[in-house]
Amino acid sequence: MSNVFDPRPATHAVASQTRAARATREWQQLDAAHHIHPFSDMGSLNKVGSRVITKAEGVYLWDSDGNKIIDGMAGLWCVNVGYGRKDLAEAAYQQILELPYYNTFFKTTHPPVIELSQLLAEVTPAGFEHFFYCNSGSEGNDTVLRVVHQYWASVGKPGKKYVISRKNGYHGSTIAGASLGGMGYMHEQMPSQVSHIVHINQPYWFGEGGDMTPEQFGLQRAQELEAKILELGAENVAAFIGEPFQGAGGVIFPPSTYWPEIQRICRKYDVLLCADEVIGGFGRTGEWFAHQHFGFEPDTMTLAKGLTSGYVPMGAVAINRRIADALIDGGDFNHGLTYSGHPVAAAVAVANIRVLREGGVIDQVKHATGPYFQDTLRQALDGHPLIGEIAGAGLVAGMQLTEDAKTRKRFANGGDIGLQCRDHCFRNNLIMRATGDRMLLSPPLVISKAEIDELVGKAKLCLDLTAKDLGLL
Ligand SMILES: *Cc1c(COP(=O)(O)O)cnc(C)c1O
Repeated sequence: MSNVFDPRPATHAVASQTRAARATREWQQLDAAHHIHPFSDMGSLNKVGSRVITKAEGVYLWDSDGNKIIDGMAGLWCVNVGYGRKDLAEAAYQQILELPYYNTFFKTTHPPVIELSQLLAEVTPAGFEHFFYCNSGSEGNDTVLRVVHQYWASVGKPGKKYVISRKNGYHGSTIAGASLGGMGYMHEQMPSQVSHIVHINQPYWFGEGGDMTPEQFGLQRAQELEAKILELGAENVAAFIGEPFQGAGGVIFPPSTYWPEIQRICRKYDVLLCADEVIGGFGRTGEWFAHQHFGFEPDTMTLAKGLTSGYVPMGAVAINRRIADALIDGGDFNHGLTYSGHPVAAAVAVANIRVLREGGVIDQVKHATGPYFQDTLRQALDGHPLIGEIAGAGLVAGMQLTEDAKTRKRFANGGDIGLQCRDHCFRNNLIMRATGDRMLLSPPLVISKAEIDELVGKAKLCLDLTAKDLGLL
């Protein structure tokens, strides 16, 4: 036995020993020495050092100094079933032993991807029976472009090439995802973008609605789609893509008039309606998918994040029957990824969706914790000197920081105040995100009412501290 060299257990023991012994400062130095972070200014980050998160359970994270932090963002909007679920870990472990990898190219498939597809057909609205897999939301939106173009080519309208999306929309960070997205600072980084993508204005009433009522403004912004289609020529327009509510853009909930009008326009000009459900999907608003909350019917849905609750990477595109029929009859679809339908990711997704459905998690968001969160937040913050609007439904909310709530006057340097508030969150062991001058919450969907009280209490504390900094309290 001792003659047989088996490096695995020993290596593992050494690794976890070293891990436990390492002090925060050492982690930070190594991180600064070798790791480039996403969406970060590494020069200034390396000077202060990153926060090192070492473990998590339920809605809580722990850092390397032993601080217990309440995660008001479910990681990056993804850990819907909360941290530390043994059933998801078990699903991954068993699948790795059984079949850790095989591809789905070359006339081949495997049980986990079949089970996941069947399950997705059950939980998605009628009309969605077909699913294409990838590893992320960005790749999902790349796939949407491929599907849309293949569709129009296969029904004999290859001229329909333009895809219309929105300013301040977020569709990921691959070249296609960033091109679809409406984040100017991401466009500036690229010498070229994917062609045939054009942007219209966002339905952000608080910031851009002027003297209009939200309802008038929602209609007007939707009608920009019609104007753009007419400008390009309907025979040249393939699709419109949007997040049902903008997530990274600041949890912007469009006025009630917006989506019905968008849908009417898409139908009128035969333009495909693509919903990016990467954040909204899998229960965030209390419905399975956010478009159900807003009452429209998309032709494709981009899925990721909550699909696996972030336990392993996976993305997917749900394709309605009209498009799927054309794809199936349309010859070769020249798109695929080594890990399309990865068996371990698929097994985890299946376990995750079962928790959301059989575990009653989404029902609970719809009927109990969602309304409780929205009410508690409003009770705590209505009339707060910094808050101009609270947008949200279910377990997602965006809080607008404002200089004057009545006139909807925004701070000239609003982003700075958001970051100031976020610094207070750091110091008070709360994860609440700042996007410009909006503070965002999107906790794990398993959060209890007592934990919601804690979350909202801490959010109010940090907003109070920020208001005090500004002499407003
Ligand atoms: C996060 C996000 C994406 C990108 O997903 P990645 O997995 O980061 O590639 C796309 N769309 C929306 C709406 C998102 O929130």
